[in-house]
Amino acid sequence: MNVLKFGGTSVGSPARIEHVADLIEKDGKNITVLSAMAGTTNSLVEISEYLYKGNIPGAQETINALEAKYYKVLDELFADADPGTARQAVVRTFALLRSYCAEPLTDAGEKEILAQGELLSTAMMHRLLTLRGRKVVLLPALDFMRTLPGGEPDMKHISTRLRRLLELEPDADIFLTQGYICRNDHGGIDNLKRGGSDYTASIIGAVIEADEIQIWTDIDGMHNNDPRFVDDTRPVSRLHFEEAAELAYFGAKILHPACVLPAKLHNIPVRLLNTMQPDAPGTLICNTAPDGTLKAIAAKDNITAIKIKSGRMLLAYGFLHKVFETFENHRTSIDMIATSEVGVTLTIDDTSRLAAIVDDLKHFGTVTVDEDMVIICIVGDLEWHNTGFEAKALAALADIPVRMISYGGSNYNISVLVRASDKVRALRELSKHLF
Ligand code: ASP
Ligand code: MG
Repeated sequence: MNVLKFGGTSVGSPARIEHVADLIEKDGKNITVLSAMAGTTNSLVEISEYLYKGNIPGAQETINALEAKYYKVLDELFADADPGTARQAVVRTFALLRSYCAEPLTDAGEKEILAQGELLSTAMMHRLLTLRGRKVVLLPALDFMRTLPGGEPDMKHISTRLRRLLELEPDADIFLTQGYICRNDHGGIDNLKRGGSDYTASIIGAVIEADEIQIWTDIDGMHNNDPRFVDDTRPVSRLHFEEAAELAYFGAKILHPACVLPAKLHNIPVRLLNTMQPDAPGTLICNTAPDGTLKAIAAKDNITAIKIKSGRMLLAYGFLHKVFETFENHRTSIDMIATSEVGVTLTIDDTSRLAAIVDDLKHFGTVTVDEDMVIICIVGDLEWHNTGFEAKALAALADIPVRMISYGGSNYNISVLVRASDKVRALRELSKHLF
């Protein structure tokens, strides 16, 4: 059985919801995870903000606008049919949202508000597929998706509960559930953080040992370079989970690395597909991928490089420890590192503690800071026995000032640091030389 996840844009309008229903029907027996319609979670966040600030008219106006939108969707989606349970869900949600206008908002209240988007999209899809004659079973995520005290998914609980719910419905054609929402360890309504529907799909795929987890979005897979800056990019057909994680971390927005962790650990392939072009092959991410190839390039903006040069580092030990400890004390994570015998350069993306970090580092050496830098990350099978890849990557950057190079940290990436103003040129040169 496959797990299919459709994001907010994929269910962003009545026409798209109909189209997604076609895709769900085509797959055969599956578990489908839906996000809220595009824009809905943002509106719910906005409503909560108004309520927190005690701006009741602001909240009411946003609720009214969102409500009007949903009635319009109902009218279009069920033009010739009875919206039935879908309508009931809409009525219920907006009564609930209005009830929150009468009392000060609490954290638990906010979480319940944020949960409404996924509850609405699944209610509408459930009704639509039922009208199409499908035996579709709604699995309420709040009945099985639960997190542990630290916020991690409670895999054991989820597995037991979900399996039991599935067993109760042996004849179902389609199971439908909400992405993003869950219960916390106190049993209260909670969520897996913004964009969390991918995480839901990955968790479900892992616990039911799905054949495949399909993440349906509005682009045809993970591209080999950033299509916003480089022409002629194309989707990468297969990636290793580690490669996908490097790309996601270093800028490719498509999938959050933490979200695919359950899939990776349980060895369930993840396929990225395009709702607008359902027959395109997309990108398959799994624990085996073609060897000996470079696959993709991504860039991470807003990087600051910090260099600490110290005569005392020569033949000394404990220097790096003190440097790392400084970053740890300021709870700032390091992205890239390069060392020489007399100095070390590190990069960070969170500069909120920069001044204090620099101040502390001055105890250990001379500190220089380079701002407005970009990490360019080249991903592929970069196991060190392969020859030629480093040379090719650097040859592509022959005319671009490179501040720093990092290679060998993993078998999957080479990272280079360049000025932000050289980013686009670097991405284009790399595409030209490598693909
Ligand atoms: N609806 C949630 C959000 O907008 C979760 C998701 O779409 O993945 O963040
Ligand atoms: Mg998303």
